[in-house]
Amino acid sequence: MTQTIAAQATTTATFKSLKCKECGAEYEPKATHVCEFCFGPLEVAYDYDALRRTVTRETIQAGPNSIWRYRPFLPVATNNPIDVGTGMTPLVRANRLARRLGLKKLYIKNDAVNMPTLSFKDRVVSVALTRARELGFSTVSCASTGNLANSTAAIAAHAGLDCCVFIPADLEAGKVLGTLIYGPTVMAVQGNYDQVNRLCCEVANTHGWGFVNINLRPYYSEGSKTLGYEVIEQLGWELPDRIVAPLASGSLFTKIYKGFREFIEVGLVEEKHVRFSGAQAEGCSPIAQAFREERDFIKPVKPSTIAKSIAIGNPADGVYALEIARKTGGNIESVNDAEIVDGIKLLAETEGIFTETAGGTTVAVLKKLVEAGKIDPEETTVVYITGNGLKTQEAVQGYIGEPLTIEPKLESFERALERAQTLDRLEWQQVLV
Ligand SMILES: *Cc1c(COP(=O)(O)O)cnc(C)c1O
Ligand SMILES: [Zn+2]
Repeated sequence: MTQTIAAQATTTATFKSLKCKECGAEYEPKATHVCEFCFGPLEVAYDYDALRRTVTRETIQAGPNSIWRYRPFLPVATNNPIDVGTGMTPLVRANRLARRLGLKKLYIKNDAVNMPTLSFKDRVVSVALTRARELGFSTVSCASTGNLANSTAAIAAHAGLDCCVFIPADLEAGKVLGTLIYGPTVMAVQGNYDQVNRLCCEVANTHGWGFVNINLRPYYSEGSKTLGYEVIEQLGWELPDRIVAPLASGSLFTKIYKGFREFIEVGLVEEKHVRFSGAQAEGCSPIAQAFREERDFIKPVKPSTIAKSIAIGNPADGVYALEIARKTGGNIESVNDAEIVDGIKLLAETEGIFTETAGGTTVAVLKKLVEAGKIDPEETTVVYITGNGLKTQEAVQGYIGEPLTIEPKLESFERALERAQTLDRLEWQQVLV
């Protein structure tokens, strides 16, 4: 008897099933991700009528200061999710960057300071591991471009789950160290991300582990919707006119869209047309290429770019991202590695936010779109900064000047200061001519 009551108190699932995005076939919400009939991807389906009746702005605001304030919109049954403070990152009004670019109302959604591992991946992993625990997995795993390995290892450590992660062998030192510190097994695969992913699909079939972005992918990807919900809430329960976000597999991009649609659907925010702009690195831009060439299929590419965290040559959700960019009147653009470095510096110098290469890509694409007249200066624009610059220091090494080394004497300081100011003036003169 007491057991039944306890079970009722801790399980209040609002999701019903997994549904094929292509043919609509429905499945029980287990650890599965592809349709048996058409091989389409599966997505979580909710009871929106029930959500409309039970969720209000007030019930959300009364929740925890993390992604779990949106628990009814997330695919877990427990009332006791793994909450490591993920989410509710700052939405910063970016006036200096806006002025530099010629925009009026620009915001940065700053997931460079997301908890616990300083990227947006903590959102998807918090959801995936909570669901993994519910489904009875004791070992969790992932195929990662870097940030996902950091998140999976950290949150598995917190939850006491065994963890084995797979990364390409050529990742940035910060990403590797930022995984090893949590004590998982780390497999550095001699190959690119797409090869890592293929290997992991085989391991998932043979080892019965919970791969957050493979057999748990339908749950994992729902975590990205919180990037949509939070922006709505932080704008005072309003939608922006445009968002700009980076694309790797395209999942994050499509889930921000789903998050916006859901809040409209259940009456939490007024309907508004939001344009979706996507950012890729030229050295790995299969979605941007398809957009430019007006194709509705993706041609896989071999990645070659400093933006390793978004270097996926064969993006699983690429066609869905394309569709959203097109139907919202947005676009998908790419920038080269030099522009990415400039994007990192521009955001740091104007807003005091140090982002990684994915963020540099996004800022550089924002700049490119404004300069091409593809973003109206009057629009309320939200730019998603998804990762932290301290993890990809190699990318900016050699492009950021050096400290002035001085003796511990006032005169040494004065001399150095004068030199610095002269150099500054010279630089300005160069800018002026
Ligand atoms: C993984 C990642 C992305 C994009 O992820 P997708 O959902 O696969 O498109 C963007 N930015 C950073 C920093 C990432 O680590
Ligand atoms: Zn199907």
